[in-house]
Amino acid sequence: MASDSMSQEVTILGTGPAGLTAAIYLARAEKKPLVIEGPEPGGQLTYTTEIENYPGVVEDISADKLLANMRQQAQKFGAKFKRGIVKQADFSKNVFELVLESGDLIKTKTVILATGASARWLEIPGEAKYIGQGISSCATCDGFFYKDRSVIVIGGGDSAMEEALFLTKHVSSVKLVHRRLELRASKIMQDRVKANKKVLWHLNRKPLAIKKKGDKLQLLVEVKDDQREEFIEADGIFVAIGHTPNTAFLNGQLKLDANGYIEVERGTAKTNRAGVFACGDVQDSSYRQAITAAGSGCMAALDCERYLMEI
Ligand code: NAP
Repeated sequence: MASDSMSQEVTILGTGPAGLTAAIYLARAEKKPLVIEGPEPGGQLTYTTEIENYPGVVEDISADKLLANMRQQAQKFGAKFKRGIVKQADFSKNVFELVLESGDLIKTKTVILATGASARWLEIPGEAKYIGQGISSCATCDGFFYKDRSVIVIGGGDSAMEEALFLTKHVSSVKLVHRRLELRASKIMQDRVKANKKVLWHLNRKPLAIKKKGDKLQLLVEVKDDQREEFIEADGIFVAIGHTPNTAFLNGQLKLDANGYIEVERGTAKTNRAGVFACGDVQDSSYRQAITAAGSGCMAALDCERYLMEI
């Protein structure tokens, strides 16, 4: 049963760069957006340490500080924040309904979905301890910090191939660890990685645990041929075993693509349900950058504002 009911013009789900940018724009447009901050406040960016590639940011800034600035900017113009996890969304009526796990009910004319895509982690001992301190899920974000050093990339899909190729531009070597002999990645991506001499293959090795030895990280793996255990050592580890877009609570109400990401009308943030917009990683399996997320958050806010003027 709903314990609280509030009525909104706009409700934004998610507090990564996409959700916060949408909040800044809609707050400046005096729409008084309500921003729901879910289980991963700040989103994937919080797994990065320093931000060096956000335009206009010349002095290095921590991901936490950049997000805190965006949040403060949204609050300055009147955005309100509420912690909560949306358990159920109902887009079938003219006024949409969102039910939080707390039981609170939010009625809202429009919704901006900026719930992101969570990186999948190995969930092996030692991993959680070093995420952001040697373990990353984003080569574009963190690769530069491993200039002329060695890294491990874990995974056998296109993401792992892409991360490995990107990293070869910076690092001295990439040790590619995959749990099977066969790769899931497309042939073209496999061929590109195979042609790169900086990549050393460690196939048929199942990751078991991660330890630190001096400055190095050690990945303990089981060699599946003979169940032997061995350590693979490097300066950094990139886990590239896929992302899961956070769309489960939508319960099939919106059109998703083959990988479960929300489909938006090309060049807009419009979903197939009028009044529901999507931005950031929940609708982007390709770029996944703070700046692209922020840009799409701006698009969602402008599309939403236009929609509110028309209804
Ligand atoms: P993916 O295709 O699902 O591959 C995930 C990889 O991680 C698989 O090789 C899987 O091993 C491995 N893995 C999963 N859980 C693991 C665990 N617990 N321990 C060790 N290894 C684990 O994910 P993706 O690479 O992110 O790609 C997702 C989709 O985006 C695909 O359709 C892909 O083609 C597309 N994509 C395309 C491009 C591009 O074209 N440039 C780039 C990135 C992604 P198994 O193979 O043994 O299951």
